[in-house]
Amino acid sequence: MSAEIEYEPVIGLEIHVQLKTRTKMFCGCELSFGDQPNVHTCPRCLGLPGSLPVVNAQAVHYGIMIGLALGCEIAPRSQFHRKNYFYPDLPKGYQISQYDVPICGPGRLGDVRIHRVHLEEDAAKLVHVGASGRIHSADRSVVDFNRGGTPLAEIVTEPDLHSAEDAREWLTLLRTTLRAIGVSDVNMEEGSLRCDANVSLRPQGSDMLGTKTELKNMNSFRFLAQGVKAEIERQAKLLRCGQEVMQETLHFDPASGRITSLRSKEEAHDYRYFPEPDLVPLVVDAAMLETARAQLPELPSARVDRFERDLGLPSERARDLAFRTELADFYEATLAAGGPGTDPVAVANWIPPLVERIGSDADPAQSRVTPAALADLVAMVLAKAVNQTAARDVLSMLVESGGDPAQIVEREGLGALHAADSGLAEIVAAAIAADPGAAEKVRGGNMKAMGPLVGHVMRETKGRADGGEIRRLILEQLGI
Ligand SMILES: [Zn+2]
Repeated sequence: MSAEIEYEPVIGLEIHVQLKTRTKMFCGCELSFGDQPNVHTCPRCLGLPGSLPVVNAQAVHYGIMIGLALGCEIAPRSQFHRKNYFYPDLPKGYQISQYDVPICGPGRLGDVRIHRVHLEEDAAKLVHVGASGRIHSADRSVVDFNRGGTPLAEIVTEPDLHSAEDAREWLTLLRTTLRAIGVSDVNMEEGSLRCDANVSLRPQGSDMLGTKTELKNMNSFRFLAQGVKAEIERQAKLLRCGQEVMQETLHFDPASGRITSLRSKEEAHDYRYFPEPDLVPLVVDAAMLETARAQLPELPSARVDRFERDLGLPSERARDLAFRTELADFYEATLAAGGPGTDPVAVANWIPPLVERIGSDADPAQSRVTPAALADLVAMVLAKAVNQTAARDVLSMLVESGGDPAQIVEREGLGALHAADSGLAEIVAAAIAADPGAAEKVRGGNMKAMGPLVGHVMRETKGRADGGEIRRLILEQLGI
């Protein structure tokens, strides 16, 4: 028995990204989502004899942008190939893809090397109509050709990931990067981002690669992590029993957690690739590269670094912001509105409470809270003009109906009470008088006993007093 051997997972990802062009990859049909089936078709995307493909320039432009964002070499001259196979969702009997010379060569995103990025067309969509919902017992299957011919970029990584969690985290970075450059909606649930994972195990410390399996089309980040984890466990169990891992294509069912075999893995030669005779080679010239480069915004990974380095944000907060472009944009707009001297860490700490109030998927720029209002609110908190609890109430009111935080504080009487103000010292004295037992314990050195006294003052002031200020007054009045 080799139960003692520890195995290291080796994971590579293949990601299909639907490009957000107006028309399909090789014809003029518009892309459609949720339209009547089979209304966006023409002789070319239906594969009728005699029709000729024309490459979509916008898709090529997006392909170059993806390559540049992933630090890839861009091939000056690449080639489209026919990938031949039969399936009802593929009317031509082949898919136009790229084979030995893809548009983008080696690159890197974060800790993961990119093997290649190539352009291709999507297949049509098979819809299985059946009472049981199971593919093989469906009553009938129908084809919607609207999706057939949609431009795709396929991104293939090197096997540089070593856990399900790493895979999920890296895919999040990739999605954020693609979203930031605006080439795709990158929505896994809607299928505009689809991910397959190649998984193998090897003995810890070994350089060899074990036999890999391919998990197909996991349609959410959670299912990707669950599927990869389940496959790692399945392979480890086989290897520990001295059995072999078969090279095959697998399906993970998130409902049952079970992995089932779809087919034995096909090899490249099964597809009989040959150069697409109806398309000339794809030539990327200096002007195309320059146009793509000029359209790239600051990438999320660079923004994380800048937030940490220049603004002093803790790395987790920097990532939470930079990984969502709309949050990072709002955050920076708030810093700008606050002007010089605005505390970047304090402002960053107010973004999560804002997100909590507007909804986790909402864009703060679309809310009633302006960057200037948030900057003012944070400045008031730092100046102790309003305490944390009251400031959160003010934030809720801003989300509800907009406005100016100073005016809201004034109108609602939420301004912080200070020792110098009306009666805070008297309220503290009353709290001490009302609870002599607690006061005695505090005098005896038990600082925890201060809790009920502080609570009393907070109740009396409806939360407007500053906790630190109350504690200071209690100690002062108890002569400590
Ligand atoms: Zn068409």
